[in-house]
Amino acid sequence: MDEDIQYFIENVADTFVKKDLIVFLHDNPSIDDCKGLAVRINRDAEQIASEIQSLVAAGIVRQGGQGAEAVYWYNPSPEQREIVERFVRYYREHPAAVEDELLRRQVEQARRAGLREVQRERTKTKAILTSMADGVLVTDSEGAVVLYNPPFALMLGLEGEDCLGRKLRDCITSGPLLRLVERIEQLPHSPYTMVAEELELTQPKRIVLKAHISPVREDNGDIIGVVTVLRDITEIRDKDRERMDFIYMVSHELRSPLTSIKGFLVSLLRGVFGELTREQVEPLKIIEDQSNRLLSLINDLLDLARLDIGQRVQQMELVQLQELLWGTVKMFEAQAREKNIALHLDVPYHLPAIEADPDNMEHVFVNLISNAIKYTLPNGKVTVRAESTGSHVRVSVSDTGIGIPEESLPRIFDRFYRVKDPRTRDVMGTGLGLAIVKNIVEAHLGVIEVTSRVGEGTTFTVTLPQRHTSGGPLSPPPLPEPEAIGA
Ligand code: ADP
Repeated sequence: MDEDIQYFIENVADTFVKKDLIVFLHDNPSIDDCKGLAVRINRDAEQIASEIQSLVAAGIVRQGGQGAEAVYWYNPSPEQREIVERFVRYYREHPAAVEDELLRRQVEQARRAGLREVQRERTKTKAILTSMADGVLVTDSEGAVVLYNPPFALMLGLEGEDCLGRKLRDCITSGPLLRLVERIEQLPHSPYTMVAEELELTQPKRIVLKAHISPVREDNGDIIGVVTVLRDITEIRDKDRERMDFIYMVSHELRSPLTSIKGFLVSLLRGVFGELTREQVEPLKIIEDQSNRLLSLINDLLDLARLDIGQRVQQMELVQLQELLWGTVKMFEAQAREKNIALHLDVPYHLPAIEADPDNMEHVFVNLISNAIKYTLPNGKVTVRAESTGSHVRVSVSDTGIGIPEESLPRIFDRFYRVKDPRTRDVMGTGLGLAIVKNIVEAHLGVIEVTSRVGEGTTFTVTLPQRHTSGGPLSPPPLPEPEAIGA
């Protein structure tokens, strides 16, 4: 193919439709409209109407009339005639060479259009990500940073660093953030659809962040990366704290007079102020019951407030769980016997120690065992089991009780949430117990999960990191089951 023909293909006969039109009109110097031409060269009439214009402009084809009425015939200008004829001749002799060239041009054009589209999409995505208030990070399945927006860098104090293409672990080295990095790295290798994590940073300034970490999947389900969205919830948490401080103050103030009322009641009932008649004892017993109820609510509120204020997990020490569980189960033996509930403890003799606040840990299992007995009908069974997984200790409290409906499970750890069940209308409770339990477990870097079937029973499982024999830092907890993740 000589240069002139090459030039003619690049600038005039640059598509299959134009090539067909030129060859057909050259061979058939008659007059036809687009519809007629469409039938002759077996192409779409609309496409012919749009492409034939450039042949008119190049002076190869003449046009008579306008719009749908327009007709066309072969009438090249004297300058064009020779090259058109050479082109047609060349095409007759080497049709494959011309068609290969046209095909190459078509592919190249599609590639350019695709690249322009990708560029446009990239600009659009960048504009959206930059204008978002949330921090966004995308990493690939190897943990390398593919994309992040300025708010993300700002929240984590990474401004001025170029993290693109680097391993997230090499960019984020500050202690409190390593847990986040670990969560992001673990996600592609886990079956979870989303992990929610809250973290508080003090450097460069205090900020509380909620991280939602989810996998990016291809159409076939393969995980190709991870998206992390960070939301600044400092203000929300500060307001929560103010509210908790208020609850703490109020419940503290309420407890003293109530304790005094209870003290006098007990003295009254014991006859310290003189013998009471049966008629007098009865209403006083009701007052005692009700003040016990009030005191239990106030104590729960105080516990919850204390936890939020961060006053609870102070006394970290080595705790032998089997002893703690044994003591706690003992506490409930009488209560279980009263309801004819069999209370079992299944704990191996050598259970590794954990590092924990013993009072808090006791609170966790007191609450779970007390609930198991409360929500199990007479003649049922409650079993406390413990085992070591190597890195963690897992304790489960199972019952054969009334169970928790599936729709209530996601809310079971919310403050003040109680399942509405006519069978438990008389069971005393505030709906705060499990919220406190969850706070304590998470403050110990643990995870609490629940499985339940209505009418069959419930199992709460607490997983806590084992104490490292080297005395090193606690390992992070395993990822929670998907149901346990706040989506
Ligand atoms: P409460 O003071 O009401 O017991 P919790 O926070 O301890 O508060 O529990 C919240 C709710 O969860 C309870 O009201 C009850 O409906 C349900 N629940 C907790 N444990 C069990 C269990 N073992 N079996 C059935 N329902 C349970």
